[in-house]
Amino acid sequence: MSAEIVMPRPTEECGVFGIYGPNEEVARETYFGLYALQHRGQESAGIAISNGTEIELHKDMGLVSEVFDNDVIDTLKGDLAIGHVRYSTDNANLHVNAQPLVFRYYQGMLALAHNGNLTNADSLRRTLTATGSVFQTSTDSEVIVNLIAKYGQSSIEESLMKCMIDIKGAYALVVMTENKLIGVRDPYGVRPLCIGKLNDAYIISSETCALDTIGADFVRDVEPGEIVVIDETGINSRKAMTAPRQATCIFEFVYFARPDSVIDGDGVRNARRAMGRQLARENPVDADIVISVPDSGTAPAMGYAEEMGLPFEEGLMKNRYIGRTFIQPSQKMREQGVRLKLNAIASIVEGKRVVMVDDSIVRGTTSRKIVKMLRDVGVKEVHMMVSSPPVLYPCYYGIDTSQRDELIAAEHDVEYIRDHIGADSLYYLSQEGILSAMQNPPEKFCMACFNGDYAIDVEGKGDTNGR
Ligand code: AMP
Repeated sequence: MSAEIVMPRPTEECGVFGIYGPNEEVARETYFGLYALQHRGQESAGIAISNGTEIELHKDMGLVSEVFDNDVIDTLKGDLAIGHVRYSTDNANLHVNAQPLVFRYYQGMLALAHNGNLTNADSLRRTLTATGSVFQTSTDSEVIVNLIAKYGQSSIEESLMKCMIDIKGAYALVVMTENKLIGVRDPYGVRPLCIGKLNDAYIISSETCALDTIGADFVRDVEPGEIVVIDETGINSRKAMTAPRQATCIFEFVYFARPDSVIDGDGVRNARRAMGRQLARENPVDADIVISVPDSGTAPAMGYAEEMGLPFEEGLMKNRYIGRTFIQPSQKMREQGVRLKLNAIASIVEGKRVVMVDDSIVRGTTSRKIVKMLRDVGVKEVHMMVSSPPVLYPCYYGIDTSQRDELIAAEHDVEYIRDHIGADSLYYLSQEGILSAMQNPPEKFCMACFNGDYAIDVEGKGDTNGR
């Protein structure tokens, strides 16, 4: 009788970074690269580094600044490294799930860091287990590791190509052997991944903001379905797979990516500002000032204010030394987190008709708290503007938009949500509106959380095209 594997499946929102700088120590660059990607995951951080023959690993729970200090960085020696920051939901916030994963297989040592969620991880895990694979973690990433090991007779490039045929879903990977750095982006290009250069060093990163942070130049994005191999011969690439279309997550632009990053030619900050302008065109209201829910609401709030000719004011102050409220596991803690994180500035909002812009409403918890906070300091009216469409469908590709029954807009209409959050009015950006804010054409984006159109089939979710 085979044992059913019932490990909790984490929802991954992560950042990955890799650097190969021949004959240079690269631990510090990796550290600062991860620091710049901290917004992509605050739960664990790790660096794997190679000195040409052995791969060393240091990873732990916590922020990058908590996991690493000078002494640790000084022990990490080598000119080739990958790093990972991770956030997961549910009860999967375990040390064992921290990345990179490092293992020995037929060809030697290998380290892997993954951003995204596979959609067929459960069946792959079952098949692999039936043929003798063993698992230590509940991550999709370990499924990839086992597949690489299974195809380990081939070169790493060949193994990865075979592995890409098996795995479905979203993956931006950085992989390293003792002497090669490899970047892989899934055929739909769901998660971002880019290439940079710093003197003789090449970098692969989730976002361009990490390149800027370490003074590297942006070279180009890794293309959907591409495997990029960097070693002593330079940079080599092959298009391993082609999908019917690109499906880059539009939520990266709404919330997840840092505003100073550019993804596939679309600047995140410009996109957010354009979303705000479009929001104003679609939903102009009479108000005195526009405020934002910092930080992801700030660019669209400025866009809204600009389009309406209204003053943009700092009505809410954020304590930036607290991780995203979302990293806290329970609803109760999340509610406490909002109070810790944000405060209303009474002198700005008191007696005013305020437009408050946030990037999204997922469960409705955050907005409800903030509206109450504004009421407590005497705001006259609160008009809540959301710079993305209602989140109606869960994401299976690595953004924690949770179970469908936790998505407030999936269960309730706008009037209910307005009443629930306590706003005088509530407006969302339309689906056409958000797409009009992007430089890239609509067909390049995944909008499944808004429209239920899942580009990649999801195992066990036969009705991913319906609600
Ligand atoms: P909620 O209380 O669930 O409605 O949370 C919405 C707030 O969380 C918004 O202010 C967003 O900026 C932020 N947010 C949206 N999506 C995510 C996500 N996937 N992970 C963490 N925070 C998010």
